[in-house]
This record gives sequence, C-alpha cells and structure tokens, in this order.
Amino acid sequence: MQQSVVKTPSGKLRYTVAHRPRVTKRLHLELDQQGGLVIVAPKHWSRAHISATLAQNTGRVARFLADARRRRVQPLQYIQGERHLLLGVPYALVILEETATKLRGKPRVTLAGHKLYVKTAQPGVFPVKSALNAWYRQQAMRIFTARMQVIAQKAPWAQGRTLPLKLRSMRRTWGNCSAKGIIKLNTHLIKTPLPIADSVIAHELCHLEEMNHSSAFYTLLEGLNPNWRQHRTVLRSQGHLYLRT
Ligand SMILES: [Zn+2]
Repeated sequence: MQQSVVKTPSGKLRYTVAHRPRVTKRLHLELDQQGGLVIVAPKHWSRAHISATLAQNTGRVARFLADARRRRVQPLQYIQGERHLLLGVPYALVILEETATKLRGKPRVTLAGHKLYVKTAQPGVFPVKSALNAWYRQQAMRIFTARMQVIAQKAPWAQGRTLPLKLRSMRRTWGNCSAKGIIKLNTHLIKTPLPIADSVIAHELCHLEEMNHSSAFYTLLEGLNPNWRQHRTVLRSQGHLYLRT
C-alpha cells in the first residue's frame, strides 16, 4: 500500500489509506500488523481531503497512536507456564509429551486446578497452538449453544426458532447475525468472562428481530441485558487481550 505523509506540529505523520464498505461517513484510525497508522476513509474522499482532515485532528491521531501502540499485545508463544484464558480465568499452560499410541493419535487438552494441560506427541509451538484452538472451539460451541438457549428464553421473538450458531476466529468483530438468522460468534469470546460473552449473544439475538441498530433494537437489548453499555466498554478497552493468537 502507498504511504502518505502529513506534517503535524510534532513532526511528519506517515500513514496508508484503506477503504471498507462500512466506512462511509468519517475517518477511522487503525494500526497495521507492523504498528503503522492506517486511515480508513470513505471511498469518495480525495487524498487531499483525507490529508487536510488529518492535519486538523492531529491531537486525536496522536492520542489514538499512543493508546493503540500501548495496547498492541505480543502474540501468544505457546510455551510452558504461559497464561491462557477461558471465561476470563487465566490458566497456566502445561505441555506434556506423550506417545502417539497412548494418545490414540490425537492431542488431549484438559483443565485441572489453575492449569491447562496439553498432552501431545509433538510438543512444538504449532501443534500445541492447533490443539488449543481446536479445544477452544469445542468449548465455545458447547458453552455458547447452552447460553444462547438460556438467553433466548427471555426473548419472545426467538421462541420456537432453531438458533443456528457458527463460530469463527475474527479480528475485528465479536459477533454478527445474517439476514437468514444465522448467528456467528467470534471463537475468542470464549476467553472473555461469561457476562461479556452473554452480552454479545444477547446483542445478536436481538438482531433476529431488529436487523439494525435502531432505538427499537436497543429497547429489546435493554430488556435482555440492561448492562450492555458496561459490557461494550469492557470489550472496547480489553478486547485486544482476548484476541491474542
Ligand atoms: Zn449489532
């Protein structure tokens, strides 16, 4: 991507420009993989307009960069003793080498006390990571399916519907609901405390009735989860901790 530069009181600001279908009105700020600034701009904005807008908002950009770079977390390493989360609780990773015959060809992941055990015939980073990801997925499917049933009992519009659930590891989205009523949740939500995961489930269940973020939608949400604002704040400020891979 082509890099642009704008002069600010504190020096030159380098950035790249990206477009996304959802961004139609204002600038959004992001970091790329290397920690560089990405300006997500409405498609019809000219480069000059983007640059002028940035020049007028240097304070905001500086605050965003400071905050986002501080929060940029290291990737997980999948080594002994590293902390991995389930439902907001940290567990220390214990990797145990075991023969493939004993494991019947499959790695085994179990929780005991405050430890998360991975028994595997290949104790390298990649096999441990993939064993853990598969385990997180199973936990997410089991727990979220059950939570969805519980929360749906308070949602009259969801009564009598099958509630198809899909899981996907996503980087920016916690959940969505398709026009066909298929709820998709971010697998990483299984790492958040249960009330947080519940709040995303409640949000998506409300979309079965209101496919938008209108006031009617928020009235439904208020009924299912009066604390949704607080939960949203947690996801916005802590979300990056749960998205580590
Ligand atoms: Zn929504």
